[in-house]
Amino acid sequence: MRFLLSFLFVVILKLAFTQNKVLIIGIDGCRADALEKAHTPNLDSLRKSGIYCATSWQLGKTKSGPGWSSMLTGVWDFKHNVSDNQFLNHNFEEFPFFPSYVKRLDASKKSVLVVGWKSLFRISKNNGWDCCLKGKNDNDCLSKTIKLLKNESFDVNMIHLNDVDFAGHTTGFELDNKKYIEAIEEADRKIGKLLNAIKNRPNFKNENWLILSSTDHGGKGKHHSGNSIEERKVWWIASSNHIQKLEITANDPGSYFYENMPSDSSIIELYPSIVDIAATAINHLFPNLSNKEFKAWGLDGKSWLDFKVNSSKELYAENELVLDKKELLFYNKACSIEIKINEFKK
Ligand SMILES: [Zn+2]
Repeated sequence: MRFLLSFLFVVILKLAFTQNKVLIIGIDGCRADALEKAHTPNLDSLRKSGIYCATSWQLGKTKSGPGWSSMLTGVWDFKHNVSDNQFLNHNFEEFPFFPSYVKRLDASKKSVLVVGWKSLFRISKNNGWDCCLKGKNDNDCLSKTIKLLKNESFDVNMIHLNDVDFAGHTTGFELDNKKYIEAIEEADRKIGKLLNAIKNRPNFKNENWLILSSTDHGGKGKHHSGNSIEERKVWWIASSNHIQKLEITANDPGSYFYENMPSDSSIIELYPSIVDIAATAINHLFPNLSNKEFKAWGLDGKSWLDFKVNSSKELYAENELVLDKKELLFYNKACSIEIKINEFKK
């Protein structure tokens, strides 16, 4: 009995002192199929330990301004209203970047963004972040972020890497373009350094990290902004000790932005997309919140920490749940969505 009590005391103490933290790694202009092709052991390790979706269709305009606005506000283009790279006509008063919600919920929580892209830096400065740092290039952004992870204790840490997009614009967003693939592999090496910096934090054993990674758009030829599959099909990763291990595949759901591509909401609800980054990050810091609250705030995104395949039986009664001895497979016949326990293929 005495042993049990002291054991419970240790567990309660650990829970009380565990600090939930978030790292978001944004890789600009990284095609989903190019990520699959590239040798990316660090992103692979994140994929294995959480949710991975290689069909995280971008429903808005495939341009950086709108894309990062969707990720950071948790709402799609028709709400944040950004359609260019100057963030003109934005509606961030109504739909701010998500660190504003974090601050509103707990003023002691702090968020930092490290970014090399001047326009995103400029628009981020008064948009909820406690600290915004401008890097000269990806290497500089990396060393600034590592320094922060080493010496500071921000609750939300975000780094934006630009070189993959730059390689695409200068040499082609193409699978057979070695330079584009190599740029993705270099981004992955940087991610390895970020993961090491987290593991080396003095208080790491008392911290619970959620690592989110995604991109704003793909590309085709030397451009993006269009409605091709190569530009709209992106990827999404969420990794933590407390997230379900899932691999999700979804059919093309259409678009909210491009004409003659009607969107299919039955698909959109069931795969992770860039607008889900904000809700999932907030939910990690405030586990008592749920998708009900995020919806009430007007967010389009949902938290994947609030998603349980096991408890989805009633919710998706019209779908098929196949329980195998090894894997659980959720299959929605109507829209061809597959959700399965993450068995790592690569
Ligand atoms: Zn971009």
